[in-house]
Amino acid sequence: MKILITGGAGYIGSHTIIEMLETTNWEVIAVDNYSNSTEDTYERIEKITGKAIKYYNIDLKDKDATHKLFLEHNDIQGIIHFAAFKSVSESVANPLMYYDNNINSLLNILACQKAFKVPYLIFSSSCSVYGNINELPVTEETPFNKTESPYAYTKQIGEQLVADFIKVNPALKAISLRYFNPVGAHKSGLNGELPLSTPSNLVPYITQSAIGKLSQLTIFGNDYNTKDGTCVRDYIHVSDIASAHVLALQQLIKTPHFPSQSIINLGTGVGVTVLEVIEAFEKVTDKKLNYTIGERRAGDVAAIYANNDKAKKLLNWKPIYTIEDMMRSAWKWEQCLNKK
Ligand code: UDP
Repeated sequence: MKILITGGAGYIGSHTIIEMLETTNWEVIAVDNYSNSTEDTYERIEKITGKAIKYYNIDLKDKDATHKLFLEHNDIQGIIHFAAFKSVSESVANPLMYYDNNINSLLNILACQKAFKVPYLIFSSSCSVYGNINELPVTEETPFNKTESPYAYTKQIGEQLVADFIKVNPALKAISLRYFNPVGAHKSGLNGELPLSTPSNLVPYITQSAIGKLSQLTIFGNDYNTKDGTCVRDYIHVSDIASAHVLALQQLIKTPHFPSQSIINLGTGVGVTVLEVIEAFEKVTDKKLNYTIGERRAGDVAAIYANNDKAKKLLNWKPIYTIEDMMRSAWKWEQCLNKK
């Protein structure tokens, strides 16, 4: 089985490759254009798994280059399409860049899935598609509200594109996985999130301020209608997200009656506030974070967490890592980066 991983040098892509190499005998082909990653991710993957994979520098917006890759590997059986921009705040500031990248790369992947008859696709979606929801936890049936950012809207559009496409291509199947907040790092501490500029996500911001790369952490608002006033998210270990991808592909392969398209939440089902994340980090590292309360951030929803029953049932999956595990591994990775 040959599997194409787009965005393979990125955060979730690389952890999924590790999981795949460790638990299956599939051949992995990775693609990335290093817009938010670096090529040495593949060295880290090799160090952890002892396996080298084939990888390509391709911008998936480039239709011809994408088509050429599929010509070279015309026996790809499954695609996991991670490659996309993912910063809420950046998308608010630069919407055209987000629409261009996230939509056009998906269109090219779908065209190649059809042209080369690739039976299975996993699409990276996001809980941001739900918008601001009052009734929590969200299930896959919870109707969308208006999105809070162009990033989130590219994921709503992406899911719809996949759905419309699969509907008229009955030989193909797809699963859209809605990630909640993936954090943490591989348990070895040898691979994790690697923001190329100042991070916009909470956990890398925490680890970088703890190690002294950043002077202070700002909590974006403490006047939300939540238990301590800070936003609530469903943080989930990146290795739990990775294992769900491998299981999703396995289910598609081995279950003939698996629905031709499905949408599945990937979260722990537990809502955690920003202050609780900070507390968990301080507890497992015995370090005090220097933080201040700032203004709310544009594009943020107040609270969201998942009902993950569908993932448990359809994928036979269960998240195994706690918020403490997430913080411990993220810190191990930050320290590993600092040794270089
Ligand atoms: N956050 C924060 N300070 C930061 C970065 C993030 O207070 O420096 C908050 C943010 O407002 C949100 C939560 O942490 O409530 C998670 O943000 P992140 O960007 O990690 O993920 P998102 O939920 O936006 O995808």
